[in-house]
Amino acid sequence: MNQEKLKIGIYELTGCAGDALLILDCEKELIDIFNAVDIQSFLMAKSDNIEGELDVALVEGSVTTEKEIEELKDIRKRAKLVVALGLCATVGGIQARFGDREEWEENYKKVYGDIDMTHTRPVQSKPIDEYIEVDYYLPGCPIEKEQFLNFFTRFLKGNPPEKSQNPVCVTCKYNENDCLLKKGVLCLGPVTSDGCGSICINHNLPCIGCWGPLDVANRTAEFYLLQEKGYDVEEIKKKMANFSGTKIAEFFKKVGKEKR
Ligand code: SF4
Ligand code: SF4
Repeated sequence: MNQEKLKIGIYELTGCAGDALLILDCEKELIDIFNAVDIQSFLMAKSDNIEGELDVALVEGSVTTEKEIEELKDIRKRAKLVVALGLCATVGGIQARFGDREEWEENYKKVYGDIDMTHTRPVQSKPIDEYIEVDYYLPGCPIEKEQFLNFFTRFLKGNPPEKSQNPVCVTCKYNENDCLLKKGVLCLGPVTSDGCGSICINHNLPCIGCWGPLDVANRTAEFYLLQEKGYDVEEIKKKMANFSGTKIAEFFKKVGKEKR
């Protein structure tokens, strides 16, 4: 039976384009990937791009301009499924850290002053699910090759994997690492989404949270535990904010005020 190939579009909003680059870096598998599906749009890989109906749109980067909001809404209209590719699309990325509107405006003014942007108006950096419905998330800064290939092949079989609900600590323990937190090192494993294979801790480096915040994490416990270990509140906040994008703003508003 001659099955029609899935129509795929790969799009980049604001970010370093590391996730799109990672797909291109699947050198050994790249021809199979391009043969298995009909890639209609992929700016970094081809010039004959078509903006039509899609089965799946993979979107990387956060939304930082009014033009990107329009582009994203157009992608959503054309695609049956949308996948947030990488940390910026999933939580807003480093450019969305803290996610506080006033702080964004203040920082924006510091850098651009009163320049009137005529090409497109900038907006506070946000993850794509602030504007459209997202069906699947592939976290990571950037995503990882095995993770992408696993997702891609499972997608082709109609069985895409859900986002992990485990912290990095789970894999870290499978890998029989000594816990760095117990040694007093600031490790964000307990509040970070699993999937990287605990690669940093395997090399005796603490987790800095690059796979993004774990939805079900007990951030309050980690926050106070790190204080008990002697870390300064501001340092903890900075570390926790780095890869958490807009998803941590609510936590920072409440932490310190809750009943313990
Ligand atoms: S080293 Fe970090 S990731 Fe590993 S168990 Fe300890 S806190 Fe969790
Ligand atoms: S920083 Fe944490 S989430 Fe990122 S690769 Fe290292 S261990 Fe994994």
